[in-house]
Amino acid sequence: MFVQRTLRQAVKAHSAFTSSPAAYSAKVLSSRFYSTAVAPLDASKLEINASKNKKPLQENSQLVFGKTFSDNMLTIEWEAGKGWAKPEIKEYGKLHLDPSAVVFHYSFECFEGMKAYKDKNGKTRLFRPDMNMKRFNKSAARIALPNFEDEELIKLIGEFLKVDDRWIPKGRGYSLYLRPTMIGTQESLGVGASNKALIFVIASPVGPYFPSGFNAVNLLATSDKVRAWPGGTGDAKVGGNYAPCIKPQLDANKEGYQQNLWLFGADHQVTEVGTMNCFVFWKNEQGERELVTPDLDGSILPGVTRDSILSLARQWGEFKVSERKFTMADLVKADKEGRIIEMFGAGTACIVCPIKKINFEGKDINIPLDPSDKTSQAGKLTKRINDAIMDIQYGDVEGPKGWSVVV
Ligand SMILES: *Cc1c(COP(=O)(O)O)cnc(C)c1O
Repeated sequence: MFVQRTLRQAVKAHSAFTSSPAAYSAKVLSSRFYSTAVAPLDASKLEINASKNKKPLQENSQLVFGKTFSDNMLTIEWEAGKGWAKPEIKEYGKLHLDPSAVVFHYSFECFEGMKAYKDKNGKTRLFRPDMNMKRFNKSAARIALPNFEDEELIKLIGEFLKVDDRWIPKGRGYSLYLRPTMIGTQESLGVGASNKALIFVIASPVGPYFPSGFNAVNLLATSDKVRAWPGGTGDAKVGGNYAPCIKPQLDANKEGYQQNLWLFGADHQVTEVGTMNCFVFWKNEQGERELVTPDLDGSILPGVTRDSILSLARQWGEFKVSERKFTMADLVKADKEGRIIEMFGAGTACIVCPIKKINFEGKDINIPLDPSDKTSQAGKLTKRINDAIMDIQYGDVEGPKGWSVVV
C-alpha cells in the first residue's frame, strides 16, 4: 500500500515538475517531498528468477579474462520521478534496448571492476567493495546518471554471489571478476540527462593475470595523444574514456611494446600505464628511498589498488610515500644517476604489473627488476606488495578494518 502510494505521488511529482519547474522546486525545498517519493535502491525487494540451465564450468587452467560468464546476472531499472525498481537476478542474457537509447549515442555508461574471492574456509570475500560503490556513484553523477544506495548494491551483489556461488573459482590467484555497469536507456536522440537507466552486474571467472609468474612489461610513452586532462573525466570510470585508448595501445604493440605510458603536459608528467595507476620506487634527489604515484588531480583514476598500496606502504613506514607529480625528465635523470629501484602499474586485474623498460622519444630507459635475482621478473617491493594484498583478499591475513568483507 505504502509503496503504491509513494509511486503515485512520484508520478504526480514528476508531472508537477514538468509543468512548472520553479514552483515545483520551491515546494520540494519546503517539504522535501520529492526525496521521499522516489524509490531508493532497496535490496529487500530483490526477486530471484535464477536460470534453470546450469552451464558447464571450465577448468581453472582454461579461464580467459572476460570471455565466459556465470549463469545469471543482476539487473535494476531506474526511472526519473519513480526511482529504483525492484532488483532482479535472472538468467544471463542479451539486453533488449531501443537503437535510440542514449547509451549508444552519447556514451552514457560507467562501470566498475572488482573481484569475489574464495577463502580457505570456502567463504566468499570482496575486497574494499565500499570503495568501488563510492566510485561507481561518482562516475554516474559525472555523466548525469542516477545515484544509488551503496550498501544496498553491496547486499545485492552478495545475493548474486550466493546464487552463482559455483562460478567462483577456488585457489590463490583465481576469482570471479564482477562488472557492475550503469547505462542510460532513454529512447531519444536529444542530448540531455537520461530519464531512464539500468544497472546490471555480470560475472566472469578469471585466473591469475600472470599464470606462470610475473612478466615485466615494456612501455612506449605516448607523445601525440593524452588520456585525460584537468576538468575532464579521467577520474571517472566512464566508458567514453576507454575506446580512445586502444589506438595508442595498438601503436605501442606494433613497435613491440606491451603497453603505452600516458603522459600529460609540456613537461611530460607521467600519469598512468595503459589502464593502470603508475608507481615508481626510487632514491629521490635528496637521497631518500621514496615510493611515488601521481596525486589525484582530477585526471588520475582513483584506483582501489592504488589506495591500498599507499595505505600499506605508509603503515610499513620503511620509506617515504608520496602522491605527487613526476615527469619523464625526472625519470631520465634518475636513470642516469642510477637511482631508479623499481616501477610498476597497479589495478584490480593484476594487482601489480612490473615494468622493465620505457621508450621515450626514441630512447629506452631500462628499469631494474630484482638485482639480487637475475631471473626475477619483478622487483622486491613489487612482489611484496602483490603478496600482501593477495593475503588480505584471500583472507589469509587480517588486513585493515573493512578491507576484506565476507558476503
Ligand atoms: C580501473 C582503472 C584503474 C585501476 O583501478 P582499481 O580500482 O585499482 O582496479 C586505473 N586506471 C584506470 C584508467 C582504470 O580504469
